[in-house]
Amino acid sequence: MADLPGRVRPGARGPPVRVTVVTTLPDRRLLLVHAHPDDESIGTGSTMAHYAAAGAHVTLVTCTLGEEGEIHVPALAQLAAAEADQLGGFRIGELAAACAALGVTDHRFLGGAGRYRDSGMMGMPTNGHPRAFWAADLDEAAGLLLEVIREIRPQVMVTYDPNGFYGHPDHIQAHRVAMRAHELAGAEGIAPAKVYWTAMPRSVLEAGMSHFTESADNPFAAIDSVDDLPFGTPDDQIAARIDGTDQHAAKEAAMRAHATQIPANSWLYAIAGNFGAEFMGVEYFTLAVGEPGPGDGPYGWESDLFAGIDPDPADLSGGRPDPSAGRPVASARRPERDAPAGDASAATATAGLR
Ligand SMILES: [Zn+2]
Repeated sequence: MADLPGRVRPGARGPPVRVTVVTTLPDRRLLLVHAHPDDESIGTGSTMAHYAAAGAHVTLVTCTLGEEGEIHVPALAQLAAAEADQLGGFRIGELAAACAALGVTDHRFLGGAGRYRDSGMMGMPTNGHPRAFWAADLDEAAGLLLEVIREIRPQVMVTYDPNGFYGHPDHIQAHRVAMRAHELAGAEGIAPAKVYWTAMPRSVLEAGMSHFTESADNPFAAIDSVDDLPFGTPDDQIAARIDGTDQHAAKEAAMRAHATQIPANSWLYAIAGNFGAEFMGVEYFTLAVGEPGPGDGPYGWESDLFAGIDPDPADLSGGRPDPSAGRPVASARRPERDAPAGDASAATATAGLR
């Protein structure tokens, strides 16, 4: 149980009184900020299921409805943006089913469902839609996320790296909004102690690519080297390896809930069949903010995103500044960079990742 600052009592006489409310939130609270429905399942599904099953409070904030996604269910083809433009609403249901599969009960859309629209791929006319997330006012969007941070008081936040993991404008914007919200939360003394960015170790990518070399259905066929992929992090820069292999079935079920986005015969499931629980169940992160906790993996990889964090509720009450929070450590070694334009090979490798 955590002591969280309560709201000012309405109707109270005299000066406003700040009351402390004991909530039923668990001591460990994890906030994930994702761009579109399905990103949570593909990128962090096992981690979410792992912590939900372990009793942590897992909050998912999705920034758009994914209106510009593809539609892999023929019967639903007319929901497309260029036709009925109902895909976003439909995907709310897919996301709800995915969260149910992951055991995650706290899910919100940034600013409410439909506040921000899927911007489409980089350079598309949809980037300029009046509600495109790509064009969102940064402080306004970050302020909406800050409201969630105030309410939940997560110790750990997960989002993408400055390139949005692979360059999609909404993923880049999710990164910017999350990092700005962390900064704003720091000014209030409530910044999550750690911020992680999703990552894929180069060694894991190389193993996957070599496995597919002989396959007729090779998603990496257009790519000669791991260097040509828009993602892939040197192993010594990885900070955490979360082993959710016991949750691999939950992750696959969550991905299958996003049926409009991930075809039933997707290569993702083919890989899952070949690599089993390891492929679906293990997820990797870099540490962008905060001090690494103790880790026993290669290069000191942590096996717990909460490693080194004291979940003592006393440290979370009152909103007083925490000098250990909000200190960026990764920005120095991985500076913000401009988003690269997408290319065909990247698009091939990231099919199903939008
Ligand atoms: Zn996405």
